Amino acid sequence: MPTAVVNYDGSITASPAQLVFPESVADIQAILRDPARYPSPVRAVGSYHSLTPCASSDGTMINMARMNRVLNIDAAAGTITAQAGIQFINASRELRKHDLQFMTNIEIGNMTLGSAACCHTKDALDGIEFGQVNSYLTSVKWVTPTGDLAEASEETSPGLLRMLRGSYGLAGVVYEVTFRIKPIEAIHLTYLPRPVDELTQEEVDQLMDTSEGLICWTVGRTAVFQQRTRVEDRNIFGGLLAAFRRRLWNHSGAYAGHLLESFVHNPEARDNLQQGLFQLDEFMYGTLRLFGGITILAPDKTIDYSKTKTSAKYAFTFWAFPRARWLSVLRDYLDFADQHHKVTGFRCNMPLGAYHIRRDTHSVLSYSHDEEIFSIDPIHAPVDLPAWQNFLRAFNEFSFQRGGIPLLNQSPFVERRHVEAAYGQRWHELSDWVAQQDPTGRMLNPYFAALLSKSAAQAQS
Ligand SMILES: Cc1cc2nc3c(=O)[nH]c(=O)nc-3n(C[C@H](O)[C@H](O)[C@H](O)COP(=O)(O)OP(=O)(O)OC[C@H]3O[C@@H](n4cnc5c(N)ncnc54)[C@H](O)[C@@H]3O)c2cc1C
Repeated sequence: MPTAVVNYDGSITASPAQLVFPESVADIQAILRDPARYPSPVRAVGSYHSLTPCASSDGTMINMARMNRVLNIDAAAGTITAQAGIQFINASRELRKHDLQFMTNIEIGNMTLGSAACCHTKDALDGIEFGQVNSYLTSVKWVTPTGDLAEASEETSPGLLRMLRGSYGLAGVVYEVTFRIKPIEAIHLTYLPRPVDELTQEEVDQLMDTSEGLICWTVGRTAVFQQRTRVEDRNIFGGLLAAFRRRLWNHSGAYAGHLLESFVHNPEARDNLQQGLFQLDEFMYGTLRLFGGITILAPDKTIDYSKTKTSAKYAFTFWAFPRARWLSVLRDYLDFADQHHKVTGFRCNMPLGAYHIRRDTHSVLSYSHDEEIFSIDPIHAPVDLPAWQNFLRAFNEFSFQRGGIPLLNQSPFVERRHVEAAYGQRWHELSDWVAQQDPTGRMLNPYFAALLSKSAAQAQS
């Protein structure tokens, strides 16, 4: 009897014939070796915070939640080794007991380390060096599609590790990961509001060149640059400020958006109230600037979304753009969003995000492989799902036409033509590698079957 598996924002429901919770590596091997009992496609699933059907299967879904132990924290070597089903926030809490932290303290606390090892991620505030979590994966172990054991590491097989980092579970189920860590750090966040119409490329370049980490939040036509700097002193109010920041982001912003969309049906009144909320956001950023910003511990950036009520949930999309083109794409985007609103009545009800991510060639699917990127991330707390999904499709076309790069777990409705254009030769490299690793398609769900390119051999036959 199929069980429904629903992702975080409720936009995706899978009905696997088998939903299994392995407790050991041997359990995973037994599943992969028995296609009669555990039908294909077999997909590993973490906490299903993805916004695309990347983990969905109507065959077998392997929920990794019961393989969630930290196996070793080696402060001297600067590494943590854990089972793949542990959530980032729980691993981070264990590190904290030793005054340690991940290199990138990503905002999404519920991402499992298995997913972090082989999927797309982004974090701009700790991106001093790299903003993609799996760039700090030093070794990984997995069960192959035929049930055998495999591993890759920086020392022994960097080429294989590069492929595994972009594999999305298509080469098998990751069961153990080792990530680089470091001593815990305090960071100071500052906020610089600037009218988009006055911004120049030189100013944006300067911000990117001088920031350790940089996010831009755009509210109306004001861009607020959030910059991070490492500080020695841990402000005594840091914990409180971090809790306030988490509450604001995890709950209040999305909740207000939901409330408006649910209860104010007159479009003009709703737009006016929405503008009022945006002005409140601008005021908040202005106040933060006035007080000189906030100081928190880096791991405090991570948010636990597991108890977020439906009425306070938000969703988003992410496309990366070369940094040199970001300002012109941002301006085009604001016009596109206005036009979309005029035609359909839909507008995103949360600030637009943008993440600055440095050049990084660790993964075959790194979206900053060739150059630094700054992203455009529309964020929305949806009540009318079809209206949001219609916007997402239009935004994909907008981004595709401007040479954007989508993420396979965070850019809904991505298509093969998008990824072929975005990742170029590397997309074919990944597609060919997946075909070699899994010639019978044991792990291949319809989502990836529609995205992966045909290999040279398949194209000829
Ligand atoms: C509210 C919210 C905030 C978010 N914020 C951020 C953010 O700040 N930064 C960011 O980068 N992302 C963010 N995300 C996106 C999210 O982190 C990613 O989609 C991530 O992949 C989810 O992790 P998961 O464990 O839920 O993976 P799932 O969604 O369960 O799976 C993702 C993919 O990984 C594969 N997979 C999972 N486990 C394994 C395994 N053990 N072996 C092999 N393959 C596996 C699945 O098959 C699937 O293809 C956010 C999402 C939400 C909903």
